Amino acid sequence: MRDQDKLYINGAWVPSTGTGTIEVIDANTEEVMGHIPEGTPDDVDRAVQAAKEAFKTWGFTDREERSKYVAAIAAGLAERSPEIAEVISREVGMPVLFSNLIQAGLPAGNMANYVQLLDDFEFEQTIGNSLVVREPIGVVGAITPWNYPLHQIVAKVAPALAAGCTVVLKPSEVAPLNAFIFAEIIDSVGLPPGVFNLVTGVGPVVGEAIAAHPDVDMVSFTGSTRAGKRVTQVAAETVKRVALELGGKSANVILDDADLEACIPPGVQFGAFMNSGQTCSALTRMVVPRELQDTIVELAVAKAESINVGPADSGADLGPLISAAQRDRVRNYIQQGIDAGATLATGGIEAPDGLDTGYFVKPTIFADVTKDMTIAQEEIFGPVLVIMPYDSEEEALEIANSTVYGLAGGVQSGDLNRAKAFARKMRTGQVEVNGGGFNLSAPFGGYRQSGNGRELGPFGLEEFLEVKSMQLPA
Ligand code: NAD
Repeated sequence: MRDQDKLYINGAWVPSTGTGTIEVIDANTEEVMGHIPEGTPDDVDRAVQAAKEAFKTWGFTDREERSKYVAAIAAGLAERSPEIAEVISREVGMPVLFSNLIQAGLPAGNMANYVQLLDDFEFEQTIGNSLVVREPIGVVGAITPWNYPLHQIVAKVAPALAAGCTVVLKPSEVAPLNAFIFAEIIDSVGLPPGVFNLVTGVGPVVGEAIAAHPDVDMVSFTGSTRAGKRVTQVAAETVKRVALELGGKSANVILDDADLEACIPPGVQFGAFMNSGQTCSALTRMVVPRELQDTIVELAVAKAESINVGPADSGADLGPLISAAQRDRVRNYIQQGIDAGATLATGGIEAPDGLDTGYFVKPTIFADVTKDMTIAQEEIFGPVLVIMPYDSEEEALEIANSTVYGLAGGVQSGDLNRAKAFARKMRTGQVEVNGGGFNLSAPFGGYRQSGNGRELGPFGLEEFLEVKSMQLPA
């Protein structure tokens, strides 16, 4: 049992001012694997006051000093990486092999990236008679989700610390134990008290207290579009900066000259089903030429049916969903797809054979899906791929751009220039062109209702900076 009964505030482990606790469930076994404190608005206030005080010093440190701490945290993350992967595999359900690479590997790599960036970044420039300086924005409230929990924490905390900001973190209450390991690492490297604070709890209480707090200068939020809208409303009273990384319903457009054998199987297994489809940038709509739909469905179904589903530590390719609520939500969407008349090509609402315990859902594919169907419009956040036929390239683009989201996308063609030309027309923050791989230094964020922020790399650092012009005498 991994029980945590303290919050991390002002460089010390302290009890919450409240008495509530929250259970953390192992997604593979449905058993309680730990408890965390259910924080209160008073806890948030204590953490914010500590962060505000710490900013007076940390905000004026030189980049070499901040870089030293960022490097030490990166080393701590690398060192505890096997434990982090194991904990997240239990909290989230991702198979251990992928957890090692993604859930533990990405955050360590991203933290280390900011050491290099701190060396290279131009914090000052001259424009005419003005010296323009980029300064840390101040106290940052970071609110994060459960699907890649530590990656999303580090995507905020690494650049915030590198910029010279101080932080109050509220991780997801559904997968929070990794955040305690992160706080232990920060504590062990001796980061000055108050620079980083951890307050756990539920969104409408702790999250909203952070968004509303007059001494929080910026909220960086990753999560659902629904909660992102609420955070924006609450934060508006104090006109603070709000950076949003929200949901998606991304299209993988297959053009008629694509190499189907090469692009369909990975498009299914990694594009759509990675982390059991619980990926904000998952390519969950495959937009295909109508005359090739049958061939594509055959390839996609063969891949989906070859995927080995099972507990995270069993060597499976695909684990369970995170919670009973999420599993039920996904099954409900599958039922809606069936009711709307889409063709269920594989999968369905029943649990996979022999997997009644753990929140498992069969890899599911629908064909003949049209734009007006709910399963083509809403983020399902489960292993459900919808295949949508088109009759012209113009229609393919219209389908790709037909949701309220714009987080990610993919395009596949035998001609790279044709694929790039199509990618330019997609209303989305990133596009995988002919299977191009994830880049930890490239900006990551959404258009439209997928948000307004850009995380990772230099763009991620800029989010946490204010700009000051000093007009100098001639
Ligand atoms: P969620 O919105 O339920 O929760 C995210 C965080 O917000 C949690 O810490 C939660 O406690 C908090 N929260 C909830 N209600 C709040 C409120 N009223 N005020 C303040 N905070 C509140 O999302 P989730 O279920 O944890 O994560 C899944 C969602 O996150 C999906 O929609 C997914 O697409 C999105 N996501 C987006 C990105 C991205 O970078 N764009 C990355 C990962 C996940």
